Amino acid sequence: MSRKRVLITGAAGFLGSHLCDRFVKDGFHVIGMDNLITGRLSNIEHLFPNEHFEFYHQDVSQFIHVPGKLDYILHFASPASPIDYLKIPIQTLKVGSLGIHNCLGLARVKKARVLIASTSEVYGDPEVHPQTEDYWGNVNPIGPRGVYDEAKRFQEAMTMAYHTYHGLETRIVRIFNTYGPRMRLNDGRVLPAFIGQSLRGEDLTIFGDGSQTRSFCYVDDLIDGIVRLLFSDYVEPVNIGNPDEISIRDFAEEIIKLTGTTQKVIYKDLPVNDPKQRQPDISRAKSILDWSPKVKRSDGLKLTYKYFKGLSKDELFLKEH
Ligand code: NAD
Ligand code: UDP
Repeated sequence: MSRKRVLITGAAGFLGSHLCDRFVKDGFHVIGMDNLITGRLSNIEHLFPNEHFEFYHQDVSQFIHVPGKLDYILHFASPASPIDYLKIPIQTLKVGSLGIHNCLGLARVKKARVLIASTSEVYGDPEVHPQTEDYWGNVNPIGPRGVYDEAKRFQEAMTMAYHTYHGLETRIVRIFNTYGPRMRLNDGRVLPAFIGQSLRGEDLTIFGDGSQTRSFCYVDDLIDGIVRLLFSDYVEPVNIGNPDEISIRDFAEEIIKLTGTTQKVIYKDLPVNDPKQRQPDISRAKSILDWSPKVKRSDGLKLTYKYFKGLSKDELFLKEH
């Protein structure tokens, strides 16, 4: 029987590259697509010799063409860290709107199932805690984070419309903060920021008073949840994340212990509209996908620190922003 073929957009990014690995390993023919705006070929170059992996250097917000059959499309292309999407706000809006429109159109032609990477950011600065999928969110559309949050909300609406009006098979995963090897050290997200600062001998920057919370999921757990959702028959959004919530202040302490840095923490202004709390309610994922996270933060952090320690001095001191 011929291999199932899957298109993964955002393939050279943190999550996209782990998805490529997983689908190649599971016996699929994988077509990765990326314009490398925040991703890196080094995340996927180990796959280049594999005859069941192809890479298209392409902007998903432009017309996309993929020859041959496609069984699945996973739309993961999008800047994902706040400093990235604040630097490239229009591209962020475009990939969440024009980009998903292109993917859905391609899926109709190919009769493929589409899974989109949505986000906990659709809940904005949430007034419901923990966040269940039926909470509609608290997003400021014209605030700095609006370019990302609203792109993702539009992306969900567009995907549901293609499901309802065209009968397309669709899946929506709402991803909560995920970490692991291949995050960009300088992407500004809190975990690479703190580990990078520790490795460079700099003080750790806490934004605000550090009482805001996040819940961090190790990448292998997330990928497992995504695969389960793709092969389920569930159409409504599903939260995938680790409910183990921690304040940013306590998280800084964990990183200090992990890295053994002798630096201190310093406090900087809290970015505008920075959510005060975030924790996924994963009841739906548990009951529908029989999924729950397996990797404890202490173990996931060790694996991630090992990866960052292996980076070259050039990468460690690279200033991107
Ligand atoms: P990333 O920046 O590492 O990866 C995104 C990839 O998309 C990059 O390789 C980038 O070059 C590519 N890309 C961006 N715009 C593109 C375009 N127009 N055409 C082609 N490629 C394009 O980010 P990530 O953390 O891997 O996030 C992947 C997806 O998961 C994003 O859609 C993000 O919104 C979503 N997500 C991630 C998290 C997380 O914690 N990592 C949480 C919620 C949602
Ligand atoms: N944060 C911080 N110091 C940093 C980077 C981020 O205190 O150097 C805070 C940030 O303000 C937010 C939390 O850590 O409250 C998580 O930020 P991140 O950008 O990782 O993810 P998001 O805000 O998108 O959940």
